Amino acid sequence: MISSFTDLALIEPIRRALSLENYRQPTPIQAQAIPPLLAGRDLLGIAQTGTGKTAAFALPILQRLAASTTPRGSVRALVLAPTRELAIQIGESFRIYGRFLPLRHAVILGGVGQRPQVAALAAGVDIVVATPGRLLDLLEQGHLRLDGISVVVLDEADRMLDIGFIQPIKRIIRALPRTRQSLCFSATMPPAVAKLCDDILRDPVRVEVTPNAATAERIDQRVFSVDAPNKRRLLSTLLRDRAIARALVFTRTKNGANRIAEQLLRTGIRAGAIHGNKSQSARQRAITDFRDGKLRVLVATDIAARGIDIDGITHVINYDLPNVPETYVHRIGRTARAGAAGAAISFCDPAERASLRDIERLTRRSLTIIDAKGLLAAEVVKDPRPPRSTGNQHHRREAQRESAQRVKPSRAWPRGAAVAAG
Ligand code: AMP
Repeated sequence: MISSFTDLALIEPIRRALSLENYRQPTPIQAQAIPPLLAGRDLLGIAQTGTGKTAAFALPILQRLAASTTPRGSVRALVLAPTRELAIQIGESFRIYGRFLPLRHAVILGGVGQRPQVAALAAGVDIVVATPGRLLDLLEQGHLRLDGISVVVLDEADRMLDIGFIQPIKRIIRALPRTRQSLCFSATMPPAVAKLCDDILRDPVRVEVTPNAATAERIDQRVFSVDAPNKRRLLSTLLRDRAIARALVFTRTKNGANRIAEQLLRTGIRAGAIHGNKSQSARQRAITDFRDGKLRVLVATDIAARGIDIDGITHVINYDLPNVPETYVHRIGRTARAGAAGAAISFCDPAERASLRDIERLTRRSLTIIDAKGLLAAEVVKDPRPPRSTGNQHHRREAQRESAQRVKPSRAWPRGAAVAAG
């Protein structure tokens, strides 16, 4: 059993950086992946964000580059990430873990000016963290060479394929030397991902942590059956429960994300939205505000939320159910980090029943379905005065409608359906 970073034979400058970060012992993926990676093996890592996978690949890369005799300042390590947010986070990890080593890194991503990135490359870097599109642009313009790469990492391979990065990835891989160390990480392993990894890796060590079912087990999952038009009201109702302290809400569409965030803001709930149509800086700001607790709710599309690493998410709310069941597992894995409790709430309208069945099949778990009608009706306060019995149908209906719109300001979560506070 490996229980300390010393057992992992990490060099002193790296151990010093880790102790500054208060990392006391390696996570399971680090304990399993670091020794073979230090020995130069290829690796297939099945792990989600939150397992410590970034350090699992970053530490051996730093250590091997620090020990290599190749001159510093030529690009020797390449990490490919599907989203800008993830690339930024990985770059930050290299900065932190490598702070006592004389190695430099650059983050190459789209959506921002390319000039600073070109300047960084020209000044000489050892490690490049990149999203595939911009990397190819710079490669084609001759701003960097990949023929000195000794190690490549494909992170979140399943997301890469979802986003449609298969061709850019293949082109990048073809530009790399054949003799190299290769690593693929993915939360899920559908056949297309397995095939891609198989093409890239040579005799890899396979490391798998927190299998889907295990992750899902710690998470309190519940499903509300609700008609699509009532989803908005259900969300506001649920959010009256202060136990939902930090919620990540997933929607299928960018417009949906905006609309929901705006509606929540109107009802006085601090909410923000992130999706592909927002500028990089607006997205980053929303993520930072959410992380700092300035926003209680972050509404996101799957693509925008990829790779975001935020601790302390008490609830993941699936406003729309994903069509791809793996996405569900990926989404709910954002809560219940590092052994903490967490809850996932899903809204399922009649058209989404098939998606729900696919999810149950994948997670091998049957989910309890709560009819939202009860919750939506329970919070309606009856007008203390009996409705005037005018005998006038129209007036009676008016009065009923009015009272149905008034909602109880207190706890909205029904007893017996309490959500783990996380
Ligand atoms: P990752 O899965 O790489 O996104 O890492 C998830 C979070 O765990 C990050 O906030 C890391 O800083 C943190 N982390 C990674 N390794 C360790 C460790 N050995 N001890 C404590 N925290 C860690």
